[in-house]
Amino acid sequence: MFILFGANDKVMEQQQCRIPEHCNHCNNTSNWILEKNATYASLFFISIVPLKTRYLYYCPICKHGQKLDADAYNWKKNS
Ligand SMILES: [Zn+2]
Repeated sequence: MFILFGANDKVMEQQQCRIPEHCNHCNNTSNWILEKNATYASLFFISIVPLKTRYLYYCPICKHGQKLDADAYNWKKNS
């Protein structure tokens, strides 16, 4: 019998912040992206169980940014 396990990443939520942020990496000021993504365990390429959730806040131009915790993510999302 052949069973195929794996893991894949999915973007759960993505939005652009309303408050412009300056990026020290590419030196541009723009509305940064707030993104929640999760790694899922998959069986035969079908996502089953979420393993890990990440909250990211990054520059849309150079993709440089930072990881957030859930509280900081929700705070930024609602501000
Ligand atoms: Zn940048």
